[in-house]
Amino acid sequence: MSTVTPTLRLDWGTSYQVTVLDLGLACCGVEVMAALEGRGGADALAELGVTAVHGGPEQAHVLVVSGTVTDVMLPAVLATYEAMPEPKYVLSVGACSNTGGPYWDSYSVTKGIDQVLPVHVAVPGCPPRPEALLGGLVALHRMVTS
Ligand code: SF4
Repeated sequence: MSTVTPTLRLDWGTSYQVTVLDLGLACCGVEVMAALEGRGGADALAELGVTAVHGGPEQAHVLVVSGTVTDVMLPAVLATYEAMPEPKYVLSVGACSNTGGPYWDSYSVTKGIDQVLPVHVAVPGCPPRPEALLGGLVALHRMVTS
């Protein structure tokens, strides 16, 4: 397990910055918002060389899918991913986007976005704490730069 310290700054290979777009679809999205925008969260992410995107997907290299993905929403999730430039990565955050979570047997819920998108890191939890998102980004960094 990596230790994230306030002085750590990750070199993402091509740049010292990586841009993250949060596709928050349900309760997990609130935790991701807290991690990206909350007090201390944005500072911790800046130390990791990570910034949140407030514009369109064409500005992002990491798509964070957090929350319940319904089959109705799935085309919008796919369109968002398609609009992102290369290189691009996907973090699936929480039980719902990983597997369907508590709604795994619902007729209307996608049972894991890894069925339709290349998920690079899956963060477990219902919901994961904001710190878990940071852990997921560190794991992604390790994968990108190894
Ligand atoms: S995993 Fe749990 S907290 Fe996250 S969106 Fe699903 S039900 Fe909500």
